[in-house]
Amino acid sequence: MIQNLPFEPEFEQAYKELASTLENSTLFEKKPEYRKALQVVSVPERIIQFRVVWEDDQGQVQINRGYRVQFNSALGPYKGGLRFHPTVNLSILKFLGFEQIFKNALTGLNMGGGKGGSDFDPKGKSDSEIRRFCVSFMTELCKHIGADTDVPAGDIGVTGREVGFMFGQYKKIRNQWEGVLTGKGGSWGGSLIRPEATGYGLVYYVDHMIKYASGGKESFAGKRVAVSGSGNVAQYAALKVIELGGSVVSLSDSQGALILNGEEGSFTVEEINAIAAIKVERKQISELATVATFSSKFKYIPGARPWTNITGRIDVALPSATQNEVSGDEAKALIAAGCKFIAEGSNMGSTQDAIDVFEAHRTANPGPAAIWYAPGKAANAGGVAVSGLEMAQNSARVNWSREEVDSRLKKIMEDCFNNGLATAKEYVTPAEGVLPSLVAGSNIAGFTKVAEAMKEHGDWW
Ligand code: NDP
Repeated sequence: MIQNLPFEPEFEQAYKELASTLENSTLFEKKPEYRKALQVVSVPERIIQFRVVWEDDQGQVQINRGYRVQFNSALGPYKGGLRFHPTVNLSILKFLGFEQIFKNALTGLNMGGGKGGSDFDPKGKSDSEIRRFCVSFMTELCKHIGADTDVPAGDIGVTGREVGFMFGQYKKIRNQWEGVLTGKGGSWGGSLIRPEATGYGLVYYVDHMIKYASGGKESFAGKRVAVSGSGNVAQYAALKVIELGGSVVSLSDSQGALILNGEEGSFTVEEINAIAAIKVERKQISELATVATFSSKFKYIPGARPWTNITGRIDVALPSATQNEVSGDEAKALIAAGCKFIAEGSNMGSTQDAIDVFEAHRTANPGPAAIWYAPGKAANAGGVAVSGLEMAQNSARVNWSREEVDSRLKKIMEDCFNNGLATAKEYVTPAEGVLPSLVAGSNIAGFTKVAEAMKEHGDWW
């Protein structure tokens, strides 16, 4: 149990999700000492909290809260994104940082886990306001990070533009050019494929799920894929699905969902590019929904998520917006619509109720009817994996080609899938014909790697 916790519902949810899968496996029977490791790993090594004061375009003082949770450095420098969103608080950043520890372990690269951000809302702000905020935020954060200490990246609300402003300020204050942030611009140290990496990696991962479950007979070709979100992860996941022959039947944002009319067709590359263009301006998809080419093909449902609003069959669901975006009832609706593969582009995209529904259907349905769920810490690990590759390129002062990075990403996602699968088979024995639990396997694989390193460092004994 975690003790003496303040009220941190999201962090508690993430902790309980991990702890319950360890408890329900043979891990603690085989290695009872790991209970102590779990207690130690669930307390962050350090949390930095600071004031961010900046000037708006009217010359007024604005104040936000800044945070960096340096959760665990057993495997390498703290690594994890920065989120700028009005809902950001310590519970959310601790849940994200906690998940990040085990996700980073699954990539096989040397990265610890961290997360940070601010309750600053970039929507409706001018470029100058965003620049002034980023400069002020980094003026404090730069005292606590560095290429060998802590390497942040983007997350919700933090794109290449914000990374650029923050990198510039770090460089000015510290007077050194170093790979202190990932997701940088291509001409100043960014890795090719980093913007695409989370979405592409998610689809590569699901491709392995489909092939394994179908004994190599099926692929994305012909699959109807429901995607939520329309930001970085959702856009590139959707583009890769289309490239592999699947149909994308939904996208969404914080204000509503855009759903394909009828049972035929798909979002096209051009339509996804049009959505990407309005998202650069931080506008809502509702603006596109009224354009004739969109309104004749899609229905826009204000305030809705896609899952219960799609016409016809759903084969694959890729939640790619934010945490807790699939409820237990929505999980049941997805399964009723035929969905067999659910994989999270977002972190903790499914509520615990939804995970319970997916996992219950996995164990109850051997053979072709099986439902298979992949948690974000495995399925969306491609983003941080390519961030790790960006760090490697920066250290060596080299730039790898698109093909080189993409092939490394593919290999990492394949290893991540196989590792989760093999670990599930080792620690959780499913009934004959039932697919192994990817959530249990991924949690156990990530946790044991970190726990072992911590033991060798003398962090627990
Ligand atoms: P973006 O900011 O690019 O996009 C976020 C998308 O989610 C937008 O469509 C946004 O809508 C929507 N959204 C945000 N908050 C809510 C909400 N409360 N309810 C409904 N929709 C919401 O972020 P990313 O695409 O980078 O991140 C999406 C998810 O993927 C997050 O969970 C993130 O932690 C996770 N992730 C991201 C990685 C990355 O490399 N970027 C790596 C691994 C995980 P709107 O435009 O209206 O705000």
